[in-house]
Amino acid sequence: MGQFSERLSSIFDDVVRRSPGEPEFHQAVREVFESLDPVVAKHPEFAEHKILQRLCEPERQIMFRVPWQDDSGEVQINRGMRVQFNSALGPYKGGLRFHPSVNLGIIKFLGFEQIFKNALTGMPIGGGKGGSDFDPKGRSDQEIMRFCQSFMTELYRNIGEYTDVPAGDIGVGSREIGYLFGQYKRITNSYESGVITGKGLDWGGALVRTEATGYGATYFLQEMLAARGSDLEGRTAVVSGSGNVAVYAVEKLQQLGAKVVACSDSSGYVHDPDGLNLDLLKQIKEVERARIDVYAERRSGARFVADGSIWDVPCDVALPSATQNELTADHAATLVKNGCVAVVEGANMPCTPDAVRIFSEAKVAFGPGKAANAGGVATSALEMQQNASRDSWSFEFTEARLAETMRNIHQTCYETAEEYGSPLDLVKGANIAGFHRVARAMVALGLI
Ligand code: NDP
Repeated sequence: MGQFSERLSSIFDDVVRRSPGEPEFHQAVREVFESLDPVVAKHPEFAEHKILQRLCEPERQIMFRVPWQDDSGEVQINRGMRVQFNSALGPYKGGLRFHPSVNLGIIKFLGFEQIFKNALTGMPIGGGKGGSDFDPKGRSDQEIMRFCQSFMTELYRNIGEYTDVPAGDIGVGSREIGYLFGQYKRITNSYESGVITGKGLDWGGALVRTEATGYGATYFLQEMLAARGSDLEGRTAVVSGSGNVAVYAVEKLQQLGAKVVACSDSSGYVHDPDGLNLDLLKQIKEVERARIDVYAERRSGARFVADGSIWDVPCDVALPSATQNELTADHAATLVKNGCVAVVEGANMPCTPDAVRIFSEAKVAFGPGKAANAGGVATSALEMQQNASRDSWSFEFTEARLAETMRNIHQTCYETAEEYGSPLDLVKGANIAGFHRVARAMVALGLI
């Protein structure tokens, strides 16, 4: 475990005491606190205004019952939640996650991360997150719709274009966003496009939003390599997951000359030494919504590994893009042993703190999620801009904006790390730069 001063320790202990049983939230807070001693020492006004204590306490937490009926007529009950963490910079912004593992601690960790991520984009968006312990796997389209309608029937009163703007996350893609938005529109009797992002292109969505997180993480990786005088051409890559983030990371990596040899889902991973066939992957994951072993069945030379770790596959660059804490110290040691030179977090907090330390000691370039995967929310903010102006931008224009945003985020992290005496430490750079922007705004807005 990393260290921080006694003053930060006592604030951290208080966070743990007041939010028991939320290990992921504690982990996310600790990870940020480990970077903050120098900035708090330099800015006594942040302590005076109790910025850290206030940052760790969500402005509002909403929990609600989501009753719905499955296809056999049986009543099902799930729990819905939305954590509106911080609105100093703009309306709460962050995705909805539908996964059986969802609990308040996980949503709080994601919401806390989102505050700093959104600050790093430089756009006027605060931090929030929500979701449900609903498991969409194996559910029919009708069941998904009934669940989404019930979820929104409660959530609608707490969100709005100027209040809180949800989007997708694990288990929530454009199909679910459609059902959620449709119900919001019906209940409120208004076509308020800017209330949710990740919409379909025919009904208020924006080009590039689907690709944005994976593309953005790859652009971030490109910047990290460029800062070391290197690039992606001819590199071997491994990307975990095969959802929205992973698929479009694979696409951009291939466009930039890398060979992606493995991806995964929760059932195992596929290794394709010739390089993944992206059309086949999209067909299986986006159209058929099938398991990843189907890829190996249809592609000669590829093999499916049910138990085992995707991080055993040798690579130059790794993009964990599935879920939190999926890459442990052992995995990190294997990656280092196999000559991996850069790791970028496509997912939120996929690397455990011990894994990050191993990368740092081995001088592996490391891009933390709150910077590297910010392209998704940044493009959501562009979707909000288009909705507000009743305009729609071309793919090329929007992608250029995304690339520029990722360049700026990298530069901000890089320069902040240097300014605070830790060159190339993008974890510190991201935490300090994100914190600084939110903290300044909180001081300016008074005791709220
Ligand atoms: P998707 O639901 O589209 O895909 C998630 C992928 O990760 C699936 O392949 C899934 O496999 C796998 N996965 C999920 N949970 C687990 C688990 N517990 N163990 C192993 N594999 C798992 O989600 P996204 O691609 O949207 O999100 C992936 C990550 O990126 C998350 O951490 C999310 O918070 C983060 N993120 C997403 C953004 C976005 O714009 N979508 C923006 C920024 C961050 P299976 O289908 O078998 O469950």
